[in-house]
Amino acid sequence: MPRKSIYELYEFLPKTNCGECGMSCMAFAGHLLARDVCPRDCPVLDEPEHEDNKRRLLEILGEGVKNELTGLIVDDHLCIGCGACVNVCPVHGANNREVALGKGPRHDDVTVIQIINARVRLVHPELCNRAIPSAPPCKACADYCPTDAMELV
Ligand code: SF4
Ligand code: SF4
Ligand code: SF4
Repeated sequence: MPRKSIYELYEFLPKTNCGECGMSCMAFAGHLLARDVCPRDCPVLDEPEHEDNKRRLLEILGEGVKNELTGLIVDDHLCIGCGACVNVCPVHGANNREVALGKGPRHDDVTVIQIINARVRLVHPELCNRAIPSAPPCKACADYCPTDAMELV
């Protein structure tokens, strides 16, 4: 599944720039992508002629909830629990020499993300590079996810 984009979301908006949401349709698409608004915040989408588009937007946006500290969203319906994201997270390698050499972190290691009940979970968001202003920008977990279950917004 390709990554979501503002333009993809914009295609399903009414494109009237009516301003009822307090912004333009393009700006609304950007806020949708960042999950700062949701499709129901556009009242025009409630009109019957936009019913299909609203349903499509809900499908594209998925069911993941944004973690405010990191901007990480995991869609449980897409995650297969493979652990690729856990293995590539640079924080895990920095904290553990074995992990830096290629071994996966053990379950009781302190990690940013972990597989729990066959799904990835953010267990220490405060350790994620994205929560630390001075840390290098990072999106390794999302880049290596084979199912695009992860988004960083
Ligand atoms: S309320 Fe909907 S149609 Fe109106 S500007 Fe916002 S996104 Fe566009
Ligand atoms: S954004 Fe980087 S530091 Fe944060 S969980 Fe993903 S790989 Fe780890
Ligand atoms: S890499 Fe993707 S599919 Fe695999 S555990 Fe992480 S989020 Fe789930």
